[in-house]
Amino acid sequence: AEKQKYIGMVEDCCCDYETVNKLNTEVLHPLLQDLVKTPFYRYFKVKLWCDCPFWPDDGMCRLRDCSVCECPESEFPEPFKKPLSKDNPVCQEGKPQAAVDRTVDTRAFTGWTVTDNPWTSDDETDNEEMTYVNLRLNPERYTGYIGPSARRIWDAIYSENCPRYTSEQSCQEEKLLYKLVSGLHSSITVHIASDYLLDEATNSWGQNLTLLYDRVLRYPDRVRNLYFTFLFVLRAVTKAENYLVEAEYETGNVIEDLKTKSLVKQIVSDPKTTAACPLPFDEAKLWKGQRGPELKQQIQKQFRNISAIMDCVGCEKCRLWGKLQILGLGTALKILFTVNGEDNLRHNLELQRNEVIALMNLLNRLSESVKFVHEMSPVAESIAGVG
Ligand code: FAD
Repeated sequence: AEKQKYIGMVEDCCCDYETVNKLNTEVLHPLLQDLVKTPFYRYFKVKLWCDCPFWPDDGMCRLRDCSVCECPESEFPEPFKKPLSKDNPVCQEGKPQAAVDRTVDTRAFTGWTVTDNPWTSDDETDNEEMTYVNLRLNPERYTGYIGPSARRIWDAIYSENCPRYTSEQSCQEEKLLYKLVSGLHSSITVHIASDYLLDEATNSWGQNLTLLYDRVLRYPDRVRNLYFTFLFVLRAVTKAENYLVEAEYETGNVIEDLKTKSLVKQIVSDPKTTAACPLPFDEAKLWKGQRGPELKQQIQKQFRNISAIMDCVGCEKCRLWGKLQILGLGTALKILFTVNGEDNLRHNLELQRNEVIALMNLLNRLSESVKFVHEMSPVAESIAGVG
C-alpha cells in the first residue's frame, strides 16, 4: 500500500510520478547542477539584515553553522555592480533619438527590469544594505536552527497565511498556496536530511535517512506537495521560455556566459521535457470563477506576508535560502499569474536579474529533493522498518 502512493498522476498535473522521476534524473537534474555553478547563477543579491517586523531578535542569528560567507566586492561579476536605473533617460528634445519608435518590439527580453515583484515584500532595488552572496559557498543544509524560533516561523506561515485545507474543499486556488509552501518545506527538510551534521565532535557530515523518513516520507502529502511544487516551478520556467532564452547572461566571462545561455536553452526547451510532460501545471484553469480576481488578490497578499516573515528567520543561512526560494516561488507566481494570457506574455514579461537567479536556483533545489526522495525512499523505509 505504501508503494501505491506515488503511482499515477501528480495532483493537478498531466504527468505521472515515474515520468517526472525519469525526466528529472536523466535531463533536468544534470543540466541544473551545471547551470547553478555558472558565474551568472551563483551570485544572489540579498539583504541579510535580521529586521523582523513581528518579533524581537531571539539571538538565533549567532548559531555556529548559520552564518553566511559573503563575497568580497572583487569576486562578483562587474556587470552586476552597475546600478540599473529606475529613472527614464533624460529626453533630448529635438534630437532624432528622442523621437518615439512606434514599431512593435517583438523581442521577449528587452533588458533586466528594476520593478519589484508584486508577489513579494522585499524591495529589490540596489541599496547599501544588499550584499552579494556566493551560493556555492553557502549550501542549504543542516544548521542547527531548531526549537521554538524555527517552529514559530513555520506556524506563522501555515496558520496565518495558508490554512491547511480539508479534503472536502475543492477550491484549487486556496489549496495552491498551501501546497507550494508545504512542497518547499519538504524540500528544505530533504536538504537537511541529505547533508546533516552526524557528529559534532569530529565535524562529520552525511545523510540522515531516519530524519528523511520521520519528517517527510511518513507523510505522503508532503511528498506529493514536493512533486507538485517542482512541476509548478518547471511550468513557470518553460512558460517563460522566450524570455529566458533571449535574456542576457553577461558576467564578463564570455566562455562561461555562452555556456550559461546554452544550458538555459536546453532546460527550457529540451524536446524530452516537452514530450514527457507538455504541461506540468495548467495555470489557465485557475481564477475562472466569479471570485477569481478577488481570490488572486487575496492569495497575492498572503504570499507577500510569507515573504515578509522571511526577515524573521533567525538563522542567517536559513534566511538566505528562505528568501531566495520565496523570491523564486514569487517569480513563478508572477510568470504564471500576473501576466494574462499567452499573447501578452510575449511582450509584457519583465523580470529582474535576481528573480531569474532565484527561480532557477529554486528549480535546482526542488530537482535535488525530488531525486533524493526518489532514490533514498526504499533505503529510508527499510531502516524505518516499513520498506
Ligand atoms: P519543522 O520542519 O519545523 O515543522 C514544523 C511543523 O510543520 C511540523 O511539526 C509539522 O506539523 C509541519 N510540517 C513539517 N513539514 C511539513 C510539510 N512539508 N508540509 C506541511 N506541514 C509540514 N534548518 C536547517 O537546518 N537548515 C536550513 O537551511 C533551514 N532553513 C530554514 C528555512 C526557513 C524559511 C525556516 C522557517 C526554517 C528553516 N530551517 C532550517 C529549520 C527547519 O525547517 C526546521 O524548522 C527545524 O529543523 C526543526 O524541525 P521540526 O522537526 O521541529 O519540524
